[in-house]
Amino acid sequence: NKPSSSNFIKSIVIDDLKSGKVKEVVTRFPPEPNGYLHIGHAKSICLNFELADEFGGKTNLRFDDTNPLKEDTEYVQSIKEDVEWLGFEWDGLFFASDYFEEMYNRAVLLIKKGKAYVDDLSPEQIREMRGTLTEPGKESPYRSRSVEENLDLFERMRKGEFKDGEKVLRAKIDMGSPNINMRDPVLYRIAHVTHHNTGNKWCIYPMYDFAHPLEDAIEGVTHSICTLEFEDHRPLYDWVIRECEMENTPHQYEFARLNLTNTVMSKRKLKQLVDEKFVDGWDDPRMPTISGLRRRGFTPESIRAFCREIGVARSNSLVDAKMLDHFIREDLKLKAPRTMGVLRPLKVVITNYPEGQVEMLDAEINPENPEMGMRQIPFSREIYIEQDDFMEDPPSKYHRLYPGNEVRLKHAYFIKCNDVIKDENGNVIELHCTYDPETKSGTGFTGRKVKGTIHWVEATNAVPAEFRLYEPLILDEEGAEEEGKTFLDYVNPNSLEIVQGFVEPNMKGAKPHDKFQFFRHGYFNVDPKHTTEEKLVFNLIVSLKSSFKL
Ligand code: ATP
Ligand code: MG
Ligand code: MG
Repeated sequence: NKPSSSNFIKSIVIDDLKSGKVKEVVTRFPPEPNGYLHIGHAKSICLNFELADEFGGKTNLRFDDTNPLKEDTEYVQSIKEDVEWLGFEWDGLFFASDYFEEMYNRAVLLIKKGKAYVDDLSPEQIREMRGTLTEPGKESPYRSRSVEENLDLFERMRKGEFKDGEKVLRAKIDMGSPNINMRDPVLYRIAHVTHHNTGNKWCIYPMYDFAHPLEDAIEGVTHSICTLEFEDHRPLYDWVIRECEMENTPHQYEFARLNLTNTVMSKRKLKQLVDEKFVDGWDDPRMPTISGLRRRGFTPESIRAFCREIGVARSNSLVDAKMLDHFIREDLKLKAPRTMGVLRPLKVVITNYPEGQVEMLDAEINPENPEMGMRQIPFSREIYIEQDDFMEDPPSKYHRLYPGNEVRLKHAYFIKCNDVIKDENGNVIELHCTYDPETKSGTGFTGRKVKGTIHWVEATNAVPAEFRLYEPLILDEEGAEEEGKTFLDYVNPNSLEIVQGFVEPNMKGAKPHDKFQFFRHGYFNVDPKHTTEEKLVFNLIVSLKSSFKL
């Protein structure tokens, strides 16, 4: 692993180690198991794990499972799989719900210190009385309850004596604070729901702002890294650590979240795309989820290189999704075997080639990486070419096949188009060509030149294959949402095109997740879900062309 590039959090870590403020760096990646991880999470994962790795520290994977309404063990499973797949090993595997008893005790401590109270106001009333940026909040009439009464009520909240929403526990801080987060934030709420981990043991659940600092402190996290929207919560984070008298003092640092063009990146929205069947699951290759990217054919190396390149900053920005494409091309360039596939086949009969004869031609597996060796591909009287590579009536700059024109078949011979066969509707269904045996690839033929080289697959041995071609799932930047529209109005109706074609016979044994560069088409991944013994299905990872520059 290359060292991570320098960033402001890394500088803080270096200073803290030097000054002896911390002896060992401990970070954590704290997903809420309410959905699958996406590329934005990958940024946070890389940051946390690489930071600790570099300084011999530790990183925990902690499930921030304090909101049972939305959480599920399916998500826990997928998150573990995705973090491992990205190539990281966690030190501790923890669940915030394992700390519920400890958190409860810390809340009791706050009550005893006169720093928390049970409030009977409804959630709406609490919200209203919190005030605004320009207007101070109003104190709840229950704010002055005695410690004894608060202790009794809080215990009865835990016992299940009250309904959802009937009572909450609030911190007693300052309703006049300029920071709204400090205006007596809610610490606990009642929710009579089954929790994926603790079952029905609890019916009160801690809020994020109370739970998160405690989780960090309990685990001895030193640098608690989160996204910028939590900057205003930092005073509350520090308040909780201090007033709960935690032994360890973690510190929160904020960085800019990743935003990508043509991409929605919130689990809520991604879940909506899944639930409303815009895509076929969280791992649909069009999704920006780690599992979607994996199925599409992205590699952990390409995602980590991307995260390293985008870096860690303190201001929000929008990254071009083409940058991610750039990194998978770079990663596969030397790794992926080259091969030929015809996506939309047109039959070509080579009329002067002996009937029944099949010859084997030599082809490099990867001209950019000669160590990968050679492959053999059959050639005979009948081949398939791409429908696009023929035009009956071409424009002047068209250098592919047209009546009377000669092109090179990659790895094979020059062929010349003589006849065009059509069906009763006038559609071209077959071409009759002749080949020139003198022009065989590799023989050094220089007699004459052709302007076009096209790919092909020998017909009798061709392996049928399905190709799934993708366009961005979201048409416009999500930020371009106009009045009355939601991101669902920007879902691209043409994000998936499925075509049936052919690949070289040596592709027969291809396994799920094998990756290839199809000559002139781009990089493809063998789809792990749809591929069967009988049928190969390829996902387009990325095309070859790019205008993107780093
Ligand atoms: P979402 O809004 O997509 O549901 P979240 O922040 O609610 O994301 P969590 O499961 O709470 O998701 O996040 C786990 C960690 O990942 C947090 O530390 C969070 O800051 C980080 N994270 C989430 N989204 C991004 C992003 N787009 N860029 C960078 N980090 C992110
Ligand atoms: Mg969340
Ligand atoms: Mg969120």
